[in-house]
Amino acid sequence: MSEADIRVLLIEDNPLHARMLQGFLDEIHAPSFPVKHVDNLAAGLDLASREKFDVVLLDLVLPDSKGLDTFVRWRTHAPHVPVVVLTGLDDMGLATRAVESGAQDYLLKSQINAALLSRSLRYAVERVRARSEEWDSPMFRNAHQQFLKAAQVVDLDDNIRQRLLFPQRTQVLSLPFRRDGYDQVETVFGYRVQHVLTMGPTKGGVRFHHSVSLGEVAALAMWMTWKCALMGLPYGGAKGGVRVDPTGLSRREKQRLTRRYTSEIIHVIGPDKDIPAPDLGTGAQEMAWMMDTYSEQVGHTVPEVVTGKPVVLGGSVGRETATGKGVVLMVQEAADHLDLDLDGATAVIQGFGNVGSAAAEFLDQLGTKILAVSDVSGGLYNDNGLPIADLLEHARSGGLVQDYPEGDNISNAELLELECDVLVPAAIENQITAENADRINCKIVAEGANGPTTTEADEILNDRGIFIVPDILANAGGVTVSYFEWVQGTQNYMWTLEEINSRLKRIMTRAFHQVLQRSIDQDLDMRTASLVQGIERVTDAKLIRGLFP
Ligand code: NAD
Repeated sequence: MSEADIRVLLIEDNPLHARMLQGFLDEIHAPSFPVKHVDNLAAGLDLASREKFDVVLLDLVLPDSKGLDTFVRWRTHAPHVPVVVLTGLDDMGLATRAVESGAQDYLLKSQINAALLSRSLRYAVERVRARSEEWDSPMFRNAHQQFLKAAQVVDLDDNIRQRLLFPQRTQVLSLPFRRDGYDQVETVFGYRVQHVLTMGPTKGGVRFHHSVSLGEVAALAMWMTWKCALMGLPYGGAKGGVRVDPTGLSRREKQRLTRRYTSEIIHVIGPDKDIPAPDLGTGAQEMAWMMDTYSEQVGHTVPEVVTGKPVVLGGSVGRETATGKGVVLMVQEAADHLDLDLDGATAVIQGFGNVGSAAAEFLDQLGTKILAVSDVSGGLYNDNGLPIADLLEHARSGGLVQDYPEGDNISNAELLELECDVLVPAAIENQITAENADRINCKIVAEGANGPTTTEADEILNDRGIFIVPDILANAGGVTVSYFEWVQGTQNYMWTLEEINSRLKRIMTRAFHQVLQRSIDQDLDMRTASLVQGIERVTDAKLIRGLFP
């Protein structure tokens, strides 16, 4: 057996199907698929504990185990072995659920041929291998699960599906920068990932956070692709980041790190190539340093290489608060749909940075009572509503939310479970999970953050009738006004705040209603409907452009 061979365990009780599959596997070479067959789950689990397999072909309806339970028992026993589910037309729903729960693929028994089987098995192994090595992150798993679910809904071309699962270009950097004690050089990891180059230049933020990894940045780049496509913007998705805790850096250290990061990625960014923007842990100042570093290298000032810059350097009015503004526009549309009056309604917001604080401010202006907000230190609760304008002043002058006197301190976990009309997670990913989804107590979840809800939690919230405005829709205001900033930069326009706000409202409201209509027409949850909308556009573009060479 060669090292490239893929060892298959076939668990199938129907002897005719088992013979057919073995026949196909025997036909395939380079790689070969040596296969062992058993006809019940217990025998399969037993064999897998004695021998190594690269992939399992699993029938979910077996003499000793039925339905999703078959998948769950296998997964518990051998979590790292990828699973391709075998299904009949009658059991498609079950197969889909298995894929949503983490199976790599499913194959319709009536349609299998050798080529399809070989491809499905190879890709299943490849995905798990890639993810478990440098790509592994809960966010990337979440992004993949969401994508695979939506891909099934649109019956996505298999060629396109594989191309969209991983980014087209990635750069992994080890970045040295000097600490303020001049002799001390710190080396940290940085990334720039460009997911889809088909739609125009790529676009996406740069985050400075201690948990940044290649997988996390790849997930965020993928979401940017769907977000831009959903809004109809002429960009593919990108993302960048540095694995560092920015709260531990002085301003000068942050500047040196930002400049070094920019110079390391300078050949892959540019106004026509890839345009960075702020994200978690970065803001207008970091964008100014990035723009300055790039401009120094090319020999003239290039404001349009980044967006989210200070207005004095060619930034757009309205950009700083655009993501929060967009979140609130989407809350207004959702509230209209649900017949909920926001004047007098209640809201809870996790995260009081760029997105969360602007969302709080705009909701406050609509007469919504903000019961609680939080930052990394924890949350602050006041049953009568928090004085947002004053709290903003306190935060802007460097104060932590919990140090503000007018409210009771609560934890971030408690905050998420408060009873309210609107919950806005606007901090970090994986906050609403299978563990707390049953206790989320609101009518609308508007995702200001990227990836705050896991796939399992999504299902629970949907079952409980909570209306979710998913991240790629809810927080798209940032990239939309970034697009306006880029257009103004490349064309030397200067739009007013009124022009920016009315264009933003038009684009986001149109996207909301397209998604809502699709979710009603196709009986999809809002997240899947949003993803399908974005994925279809990217797929059309890829198919029309064709493949080089
Ligand atoms: P930010 O750094 O300005 O603010 C983040 C906030 O979250 C801060 O209040 C911070 O204290 C808090 N926080 C950090 N870790 C936390 C934790 N473990 N628990 C609770 N709170 C925590 O970042 P931002 O730009 O507001 O981004 C927030 C989220 O919104 C991120 O997921 C980001 O990807 C997403 N997003 C941002 C933009 C943008 O334009 N800035 C656009 C789209 C999406």
